[in-house]
Amino acid sequence: MDTHKTIIIGSGPAGLTAALYTARADLKPLVIAGLTYGGQLMLTTEVENFPGFQHGIQGPELMQNMIAQAERFGAKIVYEDVVNVDLGKKPFKVSTGGAEYFGESIIIATGASSLWLGLPSEEKFRGKGVSSCATCDGFFFKDKEIAVIGGGDAAMEEALYLTKFATKVTVLNRSEKLRASKIMQERVLANPKITVLYNKVVEEFLGQEKLASVKIKDVVTGETQELAMEGAFVAIGHKPNTEIFKGQIELDAKGYIVPQDQTRTSAAGVFVAGDVRDYRYRQAVTAAGMGCMAALDVEKYLHMDEKSN
Ligand code: NDP
Repeated sequence: MDTHKTIIIGSGPAGLTAALYTARADLKPLVIAGLTYGGQLMLTTEVENFPGFQHGIQGPELMQNMIAQAERFGAKIVYEDVVNVDLGKKPFKVSTGGAEYFGESIIIATGASSLWLGLPSEEKFRGKGVSSCATCDGFFFKDKEIAVIGGGDAAMEEALYLTKFATKVTVLNRSEKLRASKIMQERVLANPKITVLYNKVVEEFLGQEKLASVKIKDVVTGETQELAMEGAFVAIGHKPNTEIFKGQIELDAKGYIVPQDQTRTSAAGVFVAGDVRDYRYRQAVTAAGMGCMAALDVEKYLHMDEKSN
């Protein structure tokens, strides 16, 4: 049985930064990248807020660079999905469809996925007017009218942020009450650039090449109307990718991994980085920072483990 010093599950900025640092520490990390590797940046176009790229960089190109950089120092990357983990005893076992891997330590960097409405037209206009990240894409909607779908804190935050660019922001909330915290609601309702429409759901995104309007329906009256919009930000929540860890490490009520102390989890030897533990910042650069922290913590942990044996 071949045991890796560390196995990294996930290949977004958190996982690949952890891979870079553990590889440079000569821990020869194994990265189980997933079949759809690279995380959420693979779904974006221009990334303008990752430091070091003065003129921006395409999301997929940034992730390819991170992979190549980690490989250059000896990280091994396999493109498989993890279907099962056993964190109960060491070495930890990680199973994919076709193989089993063993690790003295694990870094979980499986990220979170944005929830989408699930409309075919939403898919069609993703990256062409429909987005799930205001900090990433807001800038492209200077002097345009924008819709924000959702009524939670994230939707409020997106709406407020987008007022920097948009001429008008319309929040579409599906019920008669916003779910967001009082303070966020107050900020939104006090902002003259924002209008909140209640009991409204999106039926369809419309346009030719790019989004031009949003067809909405009032859930009380059944009436439909079309609002001219060049941008629509879906902010109806995220789902952390923690299904395979349920019952083995501590998760919060929403399924995010609860860090015990910086990057440690409730299972000794298992560490966590990135959006799978962070619903607040959710940025590539913060995820990368946490990946670095997890790698340094793993290094220290393995060193202590060696000393105690
Ligand atoms: P939430 O689960 O809090 O809110 C989701 C919102 O989306 C609700 O208004 C919900 O409506 C709506 N929604 C869900 N599904 C659909 C759908 N299919 N169609 C239309 N609307 C839908 O998620 P958030 O991402 O907003 O927040 C997650 C967590 O992060 C929360 O704990 C929040 O407080 C926190 N957070 C805090 C921030 C801050 O403090 N500044 C910023 C961002 C997030 P309904 O209410 O009807 O279910």
